[in-house]
Amino acid sequence: MSQRLRKQAVELDKNFRYEISQKIGAKSLLKCIQCGVCSSGCTVTEYVDLQPHRIVASCLLGLKEEVLSSQAIWTCSLCHRCTERCPKNVDYSFILALLRSMAAQEGRIPKEYSSSVITILENGFVIPYSEGMKKNIDKRRARLGLPEISGPNQNEIEFIYEETGLKELIKKTEVGK
Ligand code: SF4
Ligand code: SF4
Repeated sequence: MSQRLRKQAVELDKNFRYEISQKIGAKSLLKCIQCGVCSSGCTVTEYVDLQPHRIVASCLLGLKEEVLSSQAIWTCSLCHRCTERCPKNVDYSFILALLRSMAAQEGRIPKEYSSSVITILENGFVIPYSEGMKKNIDKRRARLGLPEISGPNQNEIEFIYEETGLKELIKKTEVGK
């Protein structure tokens, strides 16, 4: 979002800031003074399309679509440095986790994440432990004197996915359709 953004007032979601504030309570983004301290200390600041203080400003302005489609909300490493340093006690890392959750509810999960979620559901591992991959891993483990990996309990994984709603959520994503 480096190019200038033009929006009409009617296109803004004026409730977005309150929607977020209601969920996070006292450490609300409404107290932000746009000092930029969160962005200056952010560990991923140079890799994001919107820096932390700009995400907060965008939430305050009602730029919901821009925030929820931003790559920045998924790049954050949740190191919590921004929250620790904020002079106004804005819990940005928590806000960010909430924004991720809001985006996920709408099926806006980057395919790198949704593919991993599907792979875990189907195989029990982030990287499929089967066929050629299994042979290679087993060979290397045997050389190191390590035992074969025993597979996880797929029923338990299935249960967690069902109970948390993750299974339904993943169907909404580009990869899960
Ligand atoms: S450090 Fe806190 S007050 Fe400063 S811009 Fe970031 S969120 Fe706002
Ligand atoms: S929690 Fe996220 S946004 Fe905050 S400093 Fe760490 S990487 Fe940056």
